[in-house]
Amino acid sequence: MAKLYVVGVGPGDAKRMTAEARAALDAADVLCGYRTYLELVAPLYPDKAVFSTPMKRELDRCRRALELARDGKTVALLCSGDAGVYGMASPVLELLPAYPDVETEIVAGVTAALSGAAVLGAPLGNDFCVISLSDLLTPWAVIEKRLRCAAEGDFAVALYNPSSRTRAEHLRRACDILLETCDGTTMCGVVRGVGRRGQEARLLTLAALRDTRVDMLTTVFVGSSQTREIGGRLVTPRGYRT
Ligand code: SAH
Repeated sequence: MAKLYVVGVGPGDAKRMTAEARAALDAADVLCGYRTYLELVAPLYPDKAVFSTPMKRELDRCRRALELARDGKTVALLCSGDAGVYGMASPVLELLPAYPDVETEIVAGVTAALSGAAVLGAPLGNDFCVISLSDLLTPWAVIEKRLRCAAEGDFAVALYNPSSRTRAEHLRRACDILLETCDGTTMCGVVRGVGRRGQEARLLTLAALRDTRVDMLTTVFVGSSQTREIGGRLVTPRGYRT
């Protein structure tokens, strides 16, 4: 039976992959994905066929993976982090009705909000939300509204896609919106390249974050009003009296 696994491989190296994700890759005849992610896992499978497409060709990659599965291959479509968080799981399931013979399984992975939070400490220890600053598929006005609602709700926020060459100003604009509601002393953190060589992390205030440049391999954390620095770590208390 033709089968497609849509696999979240975690943030970086093999040790951060779940055993379930590893088993799906073991079972696959073909590994599909964006080149960078394939490079992270392909050395584990030197003999497997690989199929990669450039970053912007996501739908092509999903269709190709579905076609390979329809032709009888067991295929693993790789995503970084979790496959369902700004990943390929939803487009694959949207396309799936056109491929009735393909069995599909979504395999969860450790998303950047969680792996990055662990590097910083425990910034997501209470209610939190995740917002992508990419306006490629979501209008910027919608992103602004979500940022305002997050600030209004006093959520800790993990910001994905905080910047790129074509939208270097997005983080600054996001901070300006949060600063309409949040104090400039709100504790924040940035984590770059979790699980990759040269992983970096630091803590800073929201006012300082506004003037910080980050790249696409970075996840940004904005604390709630309760988030504090404790011994160099970023902590959002659960609320226990300690
Ligand atoms: N499916 C992925 C997210 C893809 S969106 C996941 O669940 O993690 C791409 C964004 O994810 C990046 O811009 C960055 O904000 C974040 N990201 C992905 N890998 C990361 C890593 N190793 N370290 C820090 N942030 C990462």
